Amino acid sequence: MRARDEVAADAAGGGFLAPGAVLGVLGGGQLGRMFAQAAQSAGYEVVVLEPQPGAPAAQVAPRQICHAYDDPAGLQRMADAAQAVTIEFENVPAAALQWLDSHLRLAPHAAAVAVCQDRAREKALFDALGVGCVAHAEVGSEAECASVAARDLYPAILKTRHMGYDGKGQFRVEQGAQLLDAWRALGAVPCLLERRIDLRSELSVVLARAADGAIVHFEPTRNAHRDGILFSSTAGAGAVEPELARRAVAAARRIAEGLRYVGVLCVEFFVGGDGELLANEMAPRPHNSGHHTIDSCDVSQFELQWRCLVGAPLPQPRQHSAARMLNLLGDLWFDAAGAQREPDWRQLLALPGAHLHLYGKHEPRRGRKMGHLCLTAATLPEVEQAARRACACLGLQAP
Ligand code: ATP
Ligand code: MG
Repeated sequence: MRARDEVAADAAGGGFLAPGAVLGVLGGGQLGRMFAQAAQSAGYEVVVLEPQPGAPAAQVAPRQICHAYDDPAGLQRMADAAQAVTIEFENVPAAALQWLDSHLRLAPHAAAVAVCQDRAREKALFDALGVGCVAHAEVGSEAECASVAARDLYPAILKTRHMGYDGKGQFRVEQGAQLLDAWRALGAVPCLLERRIDLRSELSVVLARAADGAIVHFEPTRNAHRDGILFSSTAGAGAVEPELARRAVAAARRIAEGLRYVGVLCVEFFVGGDGELLANEMAPRPHNSGHHTIDSCDVSQFELQWRCLVGAPLPQPRQHSAARMLNLLGDLWFDAAGAQREPDWRQLLALPGAHLHLYGKHEPRRGRKMGHLCLTAATLPEVEQAARRACACLGLQAP
């Protein structure tokens, strides 16, 4: 193990941080937990900045800085402790990211995260790069409601520009006359109106870009949502039509290059009824649709996250198994009468190729991501059969 001052000198110079270096993560949720687990297995120390004591990531990391994300004292403690920092959710306050960017190695950069924090800036980037996306308009005032009401965008979805996740901060608008009420219902905050399209399918691409510009990617996953929340992601030969996959990977790479991005990036896409590929949004971090990579690939999205952060080479991941990931929401902890229960783990664990991941959240709530189950097998039909059995066991309608 090398001396700390030697490690710090490397970090300042942008060089390789060898195992033993301390890596920070902003946010203590499940993505931070899986990042910490991956980085620790390669000998890195992880420190978590998260105000909530005992949060999922804090349970597995030896050190937690228990401050608000934008508390200067907490950020200073992070800068003192870590040689490089990453994030596990995109809504870290911009000022905190800028401060960290100017004091230590931060990946992804604050400027790239700022784009991902704002749906309008994301769409502007897609447009500027020639990446197709749904027709949209900004809505930030009563005057804009009046002018956008008259446009040919309906039926539509009104989304808050900032802070939306899992379908929160969204309102369906059937016709222009409803726009003003919808905007007020969302709190009269800056919003983006999107034309609602008939989805043939949804897919996403997770990639990683190194500081030297090298990019590696996972094959796109096919994603199914229920009630605005990701229900399942499927990966493996046949999951996504090859030509669509090729175009999605090319578009995601163009976005990463356009942002001079460093780190793991996910781009979500819609496939319209006519087969058109449209970028939906991006996440500047590992993504729920990439969780299967832990069990189905020789390098996971979380390993690529720490590799980007420490300046290690990025191997092109190889998927060795077909996979379907099912999110385990808090709903599974309640029976039909609303009484609390525990899913039948024993029965689930008896399924072939079942990998259980629970995030250490003690309080199940409806819609809360408590964990995920990844089913792997040699082929997609086998995975689908196992997923049907898993759904039956969990009392879920099979996809
Ligand atoms: P998350 O961050 O959890 O991915 P989010 O809250 O940011 O979700 P979106 O990704 O914008 O929300 O939307 C969630 C889902 O709602 C989409 O995956 C899609 O199924 C549906 N949806 C969103 N926008 C549209 C649209 N314009 N047309 C049709 N369906 C849409
Ligand atoms: Mg989304």
